[in-house]
Parts: sequence; structure tokens; C-alpha cells
Amino acid sequence: MAAAVGPRALLAAIAAGAIAVLALWWHSTLLVSGAGGWLTGAGEILGLLAGYGVIVLVLLMARIPPIERAVGADRLARWHAMGGRYVISLITAHVIAITWGYAVNAHTNPITESGALITAYPDVLMATVAWVLLLGVAYVSARAVRRRLRYETWYYLHFYTYLAIALAFSHQFADGAAFVTDITARFWWSSLYAVVAALVLWYRIVVPPRDYVRHGLRVAGIRQEGPRTVSIYIKGNRLRELRAEPGQFFRWRFLTRDLWWQSHPFSLSAAPGEDVLRITVRDAGDFSAALRQLKPGTRVSAEGPFGTFVADHSGRPALLLAGGVGITPLRAIFATLTGKVTLIYRASTWQDVVFQSELDAIAEARGATVHYVVGTRSDFGADPISAKTLRELAPGVQRMDVYLCGPPGMTGTAVAALTEAGVPRRRIHRESFEF
Ligand SMILES: Cc1cc2nc3c(=O)[nH]c(=O)nc-3n(C[C@H](O)[C@H](O)[C@H](O)COP(=O)(O)OP(=O)(O)OC[C@H]3O[C@@H](n4cnc5c(N)ncnc54)[C@H](O)[C@@H]3O)c2cc1C
Repeated sequence: MAAAVGPRALLAAIAAGAIAVLALWWHSTLLVSGAGGWLTGAGEILGLLAGYGVIVLVLLMARIPPIERAVGADRLARWHAMGGRYVISLITAHVIAITWGYAVNAHTNPITESGALITAYPDVLMATVAWVLLLGVAYVSARAVRRRLRYETWYYLHFYTYLAIALAFSHQFADGAAFVTDITARFWWSSLYAVVAALVLWYRIVVPPRDYVRHGLRVAGIRQEGPRTVSIYIKGNRLRELRAEPGQFFRWRFLTRDLWWQSHPFSLSAAPGEDVLRITVRDAGDFSAALRQLKPGTRVSAEGPFGTFVADHSGRPALLLAGGVGITPLRAIFATLTGKVTLIYRASTWQDVVFQSELDAIAEARGATVHYVVGTRSDFGADPISAKTLRELAPGVQRMDVYLCGPPGMTGTAVAALTEAGVPRRRIHRESFEF
């Protein structure tokens, strides 16, 4: 897979940073003695790793194009979620170990010591508030709680993380043994935070309005594709400069009175043109359902392109496997991928099938094959995407590159069937519509 080097390189860089953090503690620690000393030392290490981890978490979500392109937005989101659990655990362990270590050294108990720390050191008080805020963010991000919240509620509560980072920053220099007297360490630590803050500001705050002005995107028209699905045509200037590829997605913001405050990811459903882009949206909730009412001329802001779900032009035959609205990026890839291509399009009912005439026309023009696998599981008596079906519909599937996009249940079954049919995992390119 073309992007395979990226994730490993990024993980190696993150691990190297963590080792440098441990070296910083080693460098600043002359002696560790007694239970209090060991607890305090452990607390310092945990705190340094947490201070580093929190900034890595922000970096992963900064939407930096080379990182997004090399690693993929869905993988970054998964790392961020997993890393978030580690970091909140590190912070909590840091609080416990430091307080306990100080209590042992002061011959008191941890409760009395925590009261003393909070009242005597204003920076510790601010860091404690930050810890509580982060615990709150961790709580709303727990799967069971998140499922009950609106996406936007969960998303905007996440912004408290930035406040927490700002509140906790000063206690590191005021009270952290590694920084109290070491100006060089302070310089590098502040630089790390400053660079990440600058990247977030640039890519999340400055670039979107700059691109908005540069490309002047507006809705050009809406086409009904099915009872629950519409295509939105968006016109603009200098769209080649976006260097978007079929299969990629943008985060779209439609500047109407009701919708401007939220941006949602939608894949390009046709190869990007000189002055027009197309997305195709199935109503899944308030925002996507409202898009069918958009008026031509509505201004649009698009952040991107993002995503690693693009043709890798390996020269091998390709199988495109779409489930439901997962057809959108595959429709764009289908029209542009070179070589022998087979498209299998899985849908529950014929009403859910979109682009049928477009797909048939593309297949005819380029000598490709399309198979529509339509019906519910009970109609088929079993899941129709099995190793046997794949071998029948795409003979030689084990030698193909596979591009897969669909709802999580369908893609899970499809990966199992593809693996059983002999397709190596590294040749299965997969897009997820869920972060
Ligand atoms: C990379 C990617 C590409 C996508 N491409 C398409 C496409 O081409 N066509 C299409 O119809 N759908 C696509 N989706 C799905 C689409 O983004 C969601 O259906 C839409 O955001 C739902 O918003 P809502 O307010 O209508 O529904 P809600 O009821 O608010 O959300 C339904 C579900 O959509 C997800 N979601 C909601 N808001 C967001 C958001 N801002 N960012 C990320 N996920 C969100 C959540 O998992 C949520 O549970 C894509 C999603 C991703 C991640």
C-alpha cells in the first residue's frame, strides 16, 4: 500500500520524542532515594510523558496535509482516541504518584498533601482544573456516553482540551524538576508547544478562509439521485490547485444561516474538474438531510483534500467493492483507475442504488465490469459477500488490488471474505465513513 511508510515513520518519530522526554528526566535527576523519592521520580516521568502526549494528540488532529495524506484521517482519529486514553491515564497516575511522593517526604497523608499543594501553588491549582476538564472530555468520549450525545456536542466539548492545555502549561515550568532551573529544556519544551500551536492555528484557522477566498466555491446545482440521496455540484476557481484525487474527501461547510457552524466530511463522487466538484450525500441525520434544500449560489467552504483512499496504480487488476453510500468515492475511482477493473456494488434495495446509468456507461466506455448485488441478507439467505461470490464475480480476485468502502458491518464481512479468497491484507484499501 502506497501510504504504508507514512504511519510507521510517524510512529517512530513519536516514539523518539518519548525517549527524548525520558532522557530529559534522566538529565535533570541527580539522585532518587527513599520511597518518597521513587514516587516523586515516577510522578515526574509520568507528568513529562503526559505533557508530551497531550501535544502529540493535538498534533494528530491538526489536519496537517502531509500527515493526513501519509497516514489517513481515519487512522489518525483512531490513534488520537487510543492515545487520549493513555494520556488521561498518565496524567491521573502523575497526580497520584506526585502527591503521594510529596506526602511521604513531608510525613503526612496524600489528602492533606493535595490540599496543601492546591492552596500553596496557584499553578498546581490551575493544573488541577485542567485535569478535571480532561477527565470530563475523556468521560464524554467513552463509547457508551458518546453514542448518546449528538456528534456536534461531543465535538465542541473537545475544545475544552485546548483550555486544559493552556491551564496546565505553567505548572510544568514553575514546579517541574526538569524545567525549574534548566533554561535550555524550557526553550525546547516551549518550542514544541509553540510549533504545534502554530500548526493548529495555520491549518485549522487560517487556511480554510484563505482557500475560501481563493476558490470562491458556490453550490451550482442539486440532483436527486434516489429517494434519500442527492448530488451537489460545487463550482469554483483554480480547483486544480487543490490537487484533489478521486477517492479523497473534503470537510464541507455550507454557509447558510442554519448550517455554517458545522463542517462534515463527504467524498468526491466524481473526479475533480477544472471548475467543478461533485459530492453525493445520503441523509443520515439533520445536516445531511438539510443539504437537499440548498439553493444554487450558496457559498461553500471546503477543507481538504484529505484521505489515503486513492488509486495506487500498481498495474494489477482491481476490484472495487462498494456497500450503500460507500459507492461515492468508488464512483470517482472507477472512472479514472487504469487497467482491468471490476466493480461490485452491494445495496439492500434497488431504490438505494445510485449512479446506475453512470456506472454502466463508464463500464462500457472502458471495458470494465459492474455487478449489482441487490437484496437483503434474508433475501439471499446469507451474506452475499462471501469468498465464493467474490471468486465468481471477480475471477483471480487473489491477485487484485481491492478498494472497499461501505458501512462498518459490510466492510468487516467483506474483509473476512476477501482474506478467505486469498487477498493479502496489504492490498485491501479501505475507506471508513466513521471516525
Ligand atoms: C471520510 C468520510 C467520508 C464520507 N463521505 C460521505 C459521502 O460521500 N456521502 C455520504 O452520504 N456520507 C459520507 N460520509 C458520512 C457523513 O459525513 C455523515 O453521514 C454525516 O456527517 C452525518 O451528519 P448528520 O448531521 O446528517 O447526521 P448525524 O445524525 O449528526 O450523524 C450520523 C453519524 O455520522 C457521523 N458524523 C456526524 N457528523 C460528523 C462530522 N462532522 N464528521 C464526521 N462524522 C460525522 C457520526 O458517526 C454520527 O454518528 C463520510 C464520512 C467520512 C468520515
